[in-house]
Amino acid sequence: MAAALQAAWQGASVVLFERNQAPGKKLQVTGSGRCNITNQAAGAEKYTCADAQWMHKLLASFGVGELLAMLADIGIPVSPTHDGWYYPLSDSARTVVDAFASALQLAGVDIRFAHQVQDFFPDGNGWAVITASPLGRQEGHYARVILAAGGKSFPSLGSRGELFPILSRLGHTVLPKRPALAPVLADMKEYKPLLGIRLDAGAALLEGTSELARTRGNLIFTEWGLNGPAVMDLSHCISARPGAALTLKLNLLEFHQPAYDSLLSRKRQTATPLRVFLGAFFPPRAVDYFIQRMGQPDGVALQNMDDGILNALTGMLQALKFTVRGVKGFEFCQLSAGGVPVGEVDPVTLESNILPGLHLCGETLDVVGPCGGFNLQFAFSSGSLAGIAAGRGESNR
Ligand SMILES: Cc1cc2nc3c(=O)[nH]c(=O)nc-3n(C[C@H](O)[C@H](O)[C@H](O)COP(=O)(O)OP(=O)(O)OC[C@H]3O[C@@H](n4cnc5c(N)ncnc54)[C@H](O)[C@@H]3O)c2cc1C
Repeated sequence: MAAALQAAWQGASVVLFERNQAPGKKLQVTGSGRCNITNQAAGAEKYTCADAQWMHKLLASFGVGELLAMLADIGIPVSPTHDGWYYPLSDSARTVVDAFASALQLAGVDIRFAHQVQDFFPDGNGWAVITASPLGRQEGHYARVILAAGGKSFPSLGSRGELFPILSRLGHTVLPKRPALAPVLADMKEYKPLLGIRLDAGAALLEGTSELARTRGNLIFTEWGLNGPAVMDLSHCISARPGAALTLKLNLLEFHQPAYDSLLSRKRQTATPLRVFLGAFFPPRAVDYFIQRMGQPDGVALQNMDDGILNALTGMLQALKFTVRGVKGFEFCQLSAGGVPVGEVDPVTLESNILPGLHLCGETLDVVGPCGGFNLQFAFSSGSLAGIAAGRGESNR
């Protein structure tokens, strides 16, 4: 939608094919229906892709400021949370979809819903696009094509990845699509008492003793493993290593360490119960579990515990270990990694380096951003740049 809008704003005549009956089905469920649209910290270093310099150039051409201006233009004022996550003032993804749909209409974009693109190929000095719709099979001819058909996450919302084999046939590298921003499957046997508890933590992913990645944020313990931004942000590293022996290490004191140290030193020689001390940082059910796990009597006071036990307790809270069993599938993840490596398209026009006149953007490209609005920022940035270049008929060659 951003690509079509920007191309139309350049004066181009634009046709938008959408297989669904309505626009923005995925956009409408983002941010649990609130649409976490971008992030103050959306810089190149936040993204996993083959070339950080490429991402830097893309965001320098169309970054957070340009997106906020575009959103303001089409009537979507936004504001950041205290930690920099942007949402529309309406707190409603539906209003974002409505604003885009209306802007597309006002810009004269010819939107064809229930049209599934089945094939596209170079044809003369332009492109042929084959679609299937209730009207039957149609072939159209266009000067340029922008492919913004997403990846494979949440296929029920429209993106199923069926156009990747065409890109491959036309000469692009297509890395296997795999889940990203997915819930993590882990052995939960010893952690049953924590099920349903949500808290903020640091998370590190280890293969043997070597650390592969680390994140911090909110998470929840479930029957089958762990969910929430802190672990979802590690999931693309897990899906990249099927069968590897991976461990997830949680630091439950990541956000509390200074307060924990200070309270402990003030109360260490007092009759304050361990339960009350731990209750300053964790919910009661988690406190019960930690006390039992350390083999301490229920009413034990801090002054009656020896240093060894207290150090072991702190160590446990800093390094709760889980054996990783994999990640949930495409139906449950917010993103898919893999697709076309960024080096095969220009970072400013998103035009293919292999196929002139074809622009690739969004989840078609092998880019993973963390939770927090980074992936919509990338989709809007790359889509907008593709639209601007295609609309002007510009190549960056
Ligand atoms: C549940 C959920 C929550 C999310 N929340 C957030 C969030 O809060 N913040 C954030 O930054 N990111 C979030 N994301 C990720 C974000 O939605 C994606 O990164 C983004 O939508 C990718 O944009 P895209 O345009 O590349 O693909 P998509 O949004 O998937 O759009 C592709 C469009 O192409 C259509 N299409 C696909 N194939 C064809 C075809 N053959 N013919 C015609 N049309 C076709 C699809 O129907 C779809 O409408 C979330 C994702 C999910 C699943």
